[in-house]
Amino acid sequence: MKAAGFQYERPNTLTQAIQLLSSSPDARVLAGGQSLLPAMNMRLATPEMLVDIQDIPGLRSIEETEKGLRIGALVTHGEIQASDLVKRKAPLLARAVPYVAHVGIRNRGTIGGSLSLADPAAEYPAVVVASDAVIEIQGPEGLRKINASSFFKGLYTTDLEASDILTAVEFQQPRPNETFIFEEFARRKGDYATVGLAGSVVVSGTTIESARIVFFAVGSQPVLAEQAAKALTGCDIADKSSLEKAVQLLDGDLDPMPDLQANRHTKLHLAKTLLVRALFKQG
Ligand SMILES: Cc1cc2nc3c(=O)[nH]c(=O)nc-3n(C[C@H](O)[C@H](O)[C@H](O)COP(=O)(O)OP(=O)(O)OC[C@H]3O[C@@H](n4cnc5c(N)ncnc54)[C@H](O)[C@@H]3O)c2cc1C
Repeated sequence: MKAAGFQYERPNTLTQAIQLLSSSPDARVLAGGQSLLPAMNMRLATPEMLVDIQDIPGLRSIEETEKGLRIGALVTHGEIQASDLVKRKAPLLARAVPYVAHVGIRNRGTIGGSLSLADPAAEYPAVVVASDAVIEIQGPEGLRKINASSFFKGLYTTDLEASDILTAVEFQQPRPNETFIFEEFARRKGDYATVGLAGSVVVSGTTIESARIVFFAVGSQPVLAEQAAKALTGCDIADKSSLEKAVQLLDGDLDPMPDLQANRHTKLHLAKTLLVRALFKQG
């Protein structure tokens, strides 16, 4: 199938782009087009206007900042994967990126597009929540910044208003003794996850000082596993039985939404298996 007719605009500035988005009730940002264009071709999306942001300067850089790392919205998954700066300053993102789709899609798909789309089975939303990253948004009222945990509002729904553009993501420096965990179960490499987790543990000696664990593909948006994380705090990373006990608390943290890949029970089982796997690798 082919997309329905639409107006195409390619502004050179953020101000022009925001004006264009404000001018039509059904205008959409076009970034890498890897999700939006297939949806249009299948007539699942029929925007009147596409505002292509490719020519807007300042959205393509990966920069070291005082607090950590700032990644522009148009940076592609492929560029993230190739970046040494990302490996050093945002190791969790570096761990996750090989799981995002296939090479062809990674060459065009962008971090801004993935976060704006907010697919519940996508890797980056969980990564930014687990990293406590900050999302930068430009809109008709100017710039605002929002913590990733408040950015995702539900199924394919974020804090973005119709005329807003996600411009960048800011990652904090990894903390001393912080190690990152990322695990995913998918039917085939490159597919969206059946269940996945992203997180970090701070280990002092062999004691877990803190843990932050976020699951994806288990609900309408990334889910923080708070009870399990609390129970892990104070555990000895080599004590497998206490780690396993903490993992069982996922029964209270997660109420997985079934999808075409798996039912609730299977997803919960997979979530526990992934967390055990991630923790045992640390010990
Ligand atoms: C076969 C296939 C497999 C895939 N597998 C995975 C996977 O395993 N994991 C995964 O995470 N993703 C996967 N994807 C999606 C891929 O990562 C896309 O690149 C990504 O979801 C969207 O990025 P994009 O730049 O292509 O955005 P687009 O398709 O251009 O846009 C997507 C949506 O976000 C909006 N948008 C884009 N950029 C902005 C912005 N800066 N500000 C505001 N709104 C914006 C658009 O209006 C649109 O609604 C897959 C895609 C395909 C086709």
